[in-house]
Amino acid sequence: MQHKPAIWWIRRDLRLADNPNLMRAIQRGRPVIPVYVLDEREEALGAAASLRLMLGLKTLAKTLESKGSYLIFRRGDALTHLRAVAQHSGADTVCAARAFDPADIQRDTRVTDGLRGDGMQMDWGPGNLLFDPLGVQTGAGQYYRVYTPYWRAVRGLEVPDPVAAPGKIASPDGRAPSDSIDAWHMDAAMNRGTAILTQHCVVGEESALDRLHHFTEEKIAAYAADRDFPAVDATSGLSENLAWGEISPIRLWHAGQRAMAQGRPGAETFLKEVVWREFAYHLAANTPQIMTGNWRDKWDSFPWSTEEDEQVLAWKQGRTGVDLVDAAMRELYVTGRMHNRLRMLTASFLTKHMMKHWKIGLDWFADCLIDWDPASNAMGWQWVAGSGPDAAPFFRIFSPFRQQERFDPKSAYVAHWLAEGQRTPSAQALAFFEACPRSWDMRADDLRPLPILDLKAARQRALDAYSQNSQ
Ligand SMILES: Cc1cc2nc3c(=O)[nH]c(=O)nc-3n(C[C@H](O)[C@H](O)[C@H](O)COP(=O)(O)OP(=O)(O)OC[C@H]3O[C@@H](n4cnc5c(N)ncnc54)[C@H](O)[C@@H]3O)c2cc1C
Repeated sequence: MQHKPAIWWIRRDLRLADNPNLMRAIQRGRPVIPVYVLDEREEALGAAASLRLMLGLKTLAKTLESKGSYLIFRRGDALTHLRAVAQHSGADTVCAARAFDPADIQRDTRVTDGLRGDGMQMDWGPGNLLFDPLGVQTGAGQYYRVYTPYWRAVRGLEVPDPVAAPGKIASPDGRAPSDSIDAWHMDAAMNRGTAILTQHCVVGEESALDRLHHFTEEKIAAYAADRDFPAVDATSGLSENLAWGEISPIRLWHAGQRAMAQGRPGAETFLKEVVWREFAYHLAANTPQIMTGNWRDKWDSFPWSTEEDEQVLAWKQGRTGVDLVDAAMRELYVTGRMHNRLRMLTASFLTKHMMKHWKIGLDWFADCLIDWDPASNAMGWQWVAGSGPDAAPFFRIFSPFRQQERFDPKSAYVAHWLAEGQRTPSAQALAFFEACPRSWDMRADDLRPLPILDLKAARQRALDAYSQNSQ
């Protein structure tokens, strides 16, 4: 007799290998129904994230077909659609990865209550993390507020071995009705930027594993030395795949540990970076307010402006007149990514030089990033702005000129991204003008603008405000 099918409710875990939620659905030889629901939470994704998710889902659907399975696409209320698929198929269990975003938790609680009320089993499993974000605690039973002791606490913990993807996935008889993902137009908000951004996406589980392999073979040894130079392709690029669960951090962990055992110098630094992502989820799970408001209350009265004025527009458009900031904002718009050092610099410029609220930047990154990750984005912004735990000291105001001198000394990065004033701009610098909204009215032969503010005076204004708030 065939066991009742189990639904694998796909969320940010678009992979078959190292997927404990899929594995639990498969256990005891159950047929599995992979289901993705585009509900109100997913509809709220930013433009680039939504496009990237669409690409990831299409690739996953193909992979599932190669395993004898198929993906059911539904749009609307998650509970309603999971119920409908269960009724159609006779499924008695839903397996899914636990989320840590407060709004997701609210939705998930409602789904759990509804399905359990129907007599079904709702089986939540680990998400896309190495360590349970609520399980790691200080000796006093508290969560960690500071990264370094958190790193010390987790670096020796056991991490399970990677698990291969199943060879075949059994499907039940009779397919539940599915939408066509193409009809959802998940790339609609990208407008004319879709084709350009798509070229920069490295999609799917197989590509993610290749990326990791390439990184550990070719780049990890120089990672610690080169990772701060945006013109050098020195980092793994895996945030895009981690964000959508196309690779499990377990793979990164073991690859990093192997490299460390082989004595490769950058390996420990890489593991530490992977643990920054864990720390972001540790903070999000223990202090969910970090996602939406100042982690420290005393920042609630800080005089950040929330006005989305001309200066903010100039920041978004890469038209502040400050080369490194503008180059980074262009990279973000064209590729959906930005180098970590420049995320810090552009965030510092917005929140300190411009004295604009970090939420403006948080939202813009959420709209533009293909590796948008709610916990890392919130931690990153609050770390730079100073309102988060373990934040950058208030007097640390990144100087765009000093950063350029140190990390882009030959202006290779700036020249790559800023077309204006160049006789032969790079294809990527020109792509920005193809991708950006026509209403921005920007052209490659425009003159470079003068800086939108006096950097010295702006720095002093920020220092004064920050030192007053820190007393
Ligand atoms: C203001 C701001 C916003 C950010 N928003 C995001 C975001 O939305 N999504 C996102 O994935 N990262 C975010 N980061 C963190 C970081 O910039 C990216 O993870 C990194 O640039 C990804 O490139 P990579 O995969 O080549 O990283 P690598 O250098 O190869 O690092 C390996 C992995 O470690 C993790 N990692 C590295 N640095 C950090 C960090 N500072 N914080 C958390 N995890 C880290 C990432 O998962 C990354 O893929 C943000 C940082 C700042 C300052």
